[in-house]
Parts: sequence; structure tokens; C-alpha cells
Amino acid sequence: MSEQKMRIFGIDLGTTYTSIAYMDDYGKPVIVPNSENQRITPSVVFFDGDSIVVGDVAKESSKLYPHEVVSFVKRSMGEADFLFEYNSQTFRSEEISAFIIRKVVQDAETYLNSKIDDIVITCPAYFGINEREATRRAGEIAGFNVRQIINEPTAAAIAYGTMESDEEKVVLVYDLGGGTFDITMIEIQSSAIEVICTGGDHNLGGKDWDDRIVAYLTQEFQKATKTDEDILEDPDTCQDLLLSAEKAKKVLSQRDKTPILITHGGERVKVILERSKFEELTKDLVERSISLTHEMLEEAKKKGYWNFDEIVMVGGATRMPMMAKRIKEEFSVTPRAFDPDEAVAKGAAIYGMKLALNEGLKKRVADKKGKKDLKDIPDLSDQELDDVLEEVEALIDEEDEDIGISKSDVRLTRVRIKNVTSKSFGIIAFNAQDEEIVYNLIFKNTDVPNVITKPFGTAVKNQEAVTIQIMENDSTDSVSRVSEAVEIGTAVLNLPEKLAADTPIEITFKLNEEGRLEISAIEPTASKRQINVTIDTRSVIQGNDFQKAKDRSKAFNVS
Ligand code: AMP
Repeated sequence: MSEQKMRIFGIDLGTTYTSIAYMDDYGKPVIVPNSENQRITPSVVFFDGDSIVVGDVAKESSKLYPHEVVSFVKRSMGEADFLFEYNSQTFRSEEISAFIIRKVVQDAETYLNSKIDDIVITCPAYFGINEREATRRAGEIAGFNVRQIINEPTAAAIAYGTMESDEEKVVLVYDLGGGTFDITMIEIQSSAIEVICTGGDHNLGGKDWDDRIVAYLTQEFQKATKTDEDILEDPDTCQDLLLSAEKAKKVLSQRDKTPILITHGGERVKVILERSKFEELTKDLVERSISLTHEMLEEAKKKGYWNFDEIVMVGGATRMPMMAKRIKEEFSVTPRAFDPDEAVAKGAAIYGMKLALNEGLKKRVADKKGKKDLKDIPDLSDQELDDVLEEVEALIDEEDEDIGISKSDVRLTRVRIKNVTSKSFGIIAFNAQDEEIVYNLIFKNTDVPNVITKPFGTAVKNQEAVTIQIMENDSTDSVSRVSEAVEIGTAVLNLPEKLAADTPIEITFKLNEEGRLEISAIEPTASKRQINVTIDTRSVIQGNDFQKAKDRSKAFNVS
């Protein structure tokens, strides 16, 4: 791989599998296999003394060492209460995820014989602030520059839009992964890939189909052995059944039936699982994805989108024939399977390339303006970007020598990616009845970046600080119930001295492109004093704990 270009790698950090991709010298996204020569790595972590084993070996070890193995950690991302205990130490989901990231990056470095520093990580569209922040932290604990967190369906659409489709159309990305379901409407144009609306469920994924098989096998075992023992209480049997169930599910994507052997307490029971039975056992799960799709379509109508042209299926679990069958029946469109396991990582790599190219262009502008430090150059405006791209294109046409940017790079840089927020954000306030409510400032499915400023008044004379509780919710109304929202943190506004009661304070919520929330405030009277705001998000590792986690992570060997 050539060294002159800065590379930003794309990582699809999945609930069940993780993969990594980069853009090759010909501008094509390429998946890098792991040291076991597989293109996807099970997101399973095995604590083995001072070593961490990630991937297939870890997955297989879950049978023998159920207490030393962590799977599906993504489902706990951003949860303060998730703690995995090993050797009297506790590990948070960010730290466990960091090991998965280290494994895939390390293997890619060996494969490509090149150091990797910069990464883009994907996350489900409906991830809230804390889950996103935790995902970023995972990459940082692993020791990398996390250039951006982008949504999985957006990444899939970028891959689809840039690799597969030249036409302008509205596409539904139906993404059923190992643990999550995302449904996203995206408009693909030659000059932009725009997310219109997004919905989903972070507790619906291939694993739920596995669990149904496990429950069925348990019943069949009880019938065959005429006992009512809950064999899932035995961790070995439980792990064994989970692995067999996933294998059986995959076989049923190809064949009509599959044998499964259950061994427990010296008994062996063989069960033949038919595809039709499997479909019956999981019908409600398919229906849930369909009804979530309808919910999202209703939202899209509010934005003026009444139709779509295509349904693109990504995520490994869309390989189950029942998915395409049901989608076609419901929407009268034959869904297209698009690179189910790899589209997300490839899209992230394409996005990484865009970031790298943009940086190159910014450097050009900086050089021209005589500024040494890139930080002195703000993000390029659309106009500036167009100007510099025109210049670059002319140079490509004129010069024979390689200027490090190709025509296809220029085309890619021109494609604007627009996203929406998957959550509404507000603060707790009191309504006329003096009840606590969430007063939303930024609304779900509105474009990001998004900046909104609202005035509030101080409560008493000489008030020193205001504490605001920042809430995240799925409501699209301006007011939502506290019980339906999640607190993502508190912001403390340290007020200037000697303010009168009811002094207006302007609070600004700024949601950036990757869904990070910044809060600032000013006191608009007097001399427009900036108010210092500190946000405390309890659910995400930070401060000393973050540094400790980084140091502790380094002490483990990962393979
Ligand atoms: P992803 O997160 O996109 O990698 O999706 C992983 C999920 O897809 C897991 O639940 C896998 O068991 C499931 N999966 C992968 N291949 C197949 C297949 N051939 N048939 C059914 N499910 C599959």
C-alpha cells in the first residue's frame, strides 16, 4: 500500500461481528482479513490471564469458560451499570469494545504492514449521545484517533450510493444485524447522500432469532427426556445451545431443515428443526421490524416523502429468507441484498477517505493563505470547497505528475453527506401545573448539525449557578414526559456574580454532525458574557477513569 496518502480506516463494530476496511490505491473499499484469514471477526472477548483473545477462539471458548467470555457487549454500550468482572477487576463496555477494536486494527496492521492511527467507527443510527460517546471512547482507549462516529445505515448507503448506484433515488436501508435493527430512509443523488428519517430498535437482531431456537430446543429436550428441568441454568449447556442455535439458523438460510444435537447431564437428544417451524417461532420478530418500518415511513411523510424506490438489505441477519419474503409481501418491492456483512465497514472506509481528502484540501487552502497550523483554518464552506476542487481538477488536467488526488477522489469529495438526529433533546422544566416535563429543543429526525438557542431566566437574585438536566427521548413533540426520557447528563452553568432575579440567560444546544451535543450559554444583557458550562455524563467513562482504562488496556496482550 502506498504511503503518501493519509488513510483513515473504517470499522464496523457490530454486536456479533466486527470488520475493518480501507480504501486501496485504486479508490476501492477493501475489507482486511484478520489473522485467522476471516473477513469478519466475532465481537467476542475472552479474558485469559494477562491476554485477551478476540474472535472465533473466544467464541468457541465460551463453552468451556462461560465466566471469562463476554459477548454482545454492544447492547450495553453507554450503560453505567454494565460491569464485567474478571480477576477482581471490573471492565466497562467501552473497555471490552476497545479490545475488539485493537484486535481488528492490529491484524490489519500486520496484513498491510503499515501503522494505523486514524479510524472511523460506525454505530446504529438510533444510538443516543451516551452510546455514541462510549463508542468513541472505546476507540480512544484502544489508542486510536477516532475521526468520526457515523451511523451504520449511512455508511451502508454511502457504500451503496458510491459503488452500486448512479441513479437518483430514495432508498430504504433495512439493516438487521446481530443485535440491532435500523431502518433508514436515504435519498441518493449524484451530489449528496441525505438521510431523511431513521428508526429502529437496539434490542432486535439475529440474536433474538437464536434465542427463540434455544427456547424451542429446551422444550424439545424436556419433552424427550420427560423432565421439566431448565437446562439453560447450566451455563455450559446454555452456551452450547446458543452456538448450535446460531449455526442452525445459518443453515436454515440455505436448507429446509437441520439436525441439532442437545447434550446435557449425560443425555443426548436430536432435534430436526425445519425452516417452517423456525419461521413460526420467530414470526413476531419479523413483524416487529415491519411495524418499526411503518412507523418510520409515517415520520418520513411528515417531511414530504411519501414513496421510496428501493429497499436495500444489509446486516447478516437479512440473509434469512423470511426477511426478503415478508418485506416483499408488505411493500410490494423485491428487496436487494447488498453486501450484507461488509457494506457498513466499506462505507465507513469511503467516509474516512472523504475526511482525509477534505483535510488535504484544507491544507491546500491553508498554504495559500499562508497559515501553518490547520487549526487556524475553519471547516471549508461549500463555496471554498468548490473553488479548491475546481483548482485541483484543473491541476489534474494540466499536470502529468501525481498530485496525490485523482478525479474519482474529487467526485467523492463533492458528494455531501447529510444526516438527521435519531433522538430529541431537551431539558427538564416545569409546566403551568408545576409538574416536571421535558421541554424539547432539538427534535428527532431533524438535520444535523443543528443549533438552537432559547432564553431562560435566573430564579433568584445573586444566583451562582444553574444546573440543567439534559434529556434524550424519542418523542417528536415539543414536550415529553420525564418517564419517557433518559437523562444523558447535567450541565452546570456557572453564572457571573451579582445577577438580578429573572436575568435572561441564552442557552444554546449544538448537535454536531456525529450526534455529539455541546451546550453553551451567554448572558445577553450586560456585555454578552459567556457562561462556563460543564457537562457531566455519568454513563461514559471519563477523566481519571478514562486515563486508567487506557493504561490498563495497554497492559493486556490482544490476539
Ligand atoms: P452483522 O451484525 O451485520 O454482522 O450480523 C450478524 C448477524 O447475522 C448474526 O446474528 C448472525 O448470526 C447473522 N447471520 C450471519 N449470516 C447469516 C445467515 N447466513 N443466515 C442467517 N443469519 C445470519
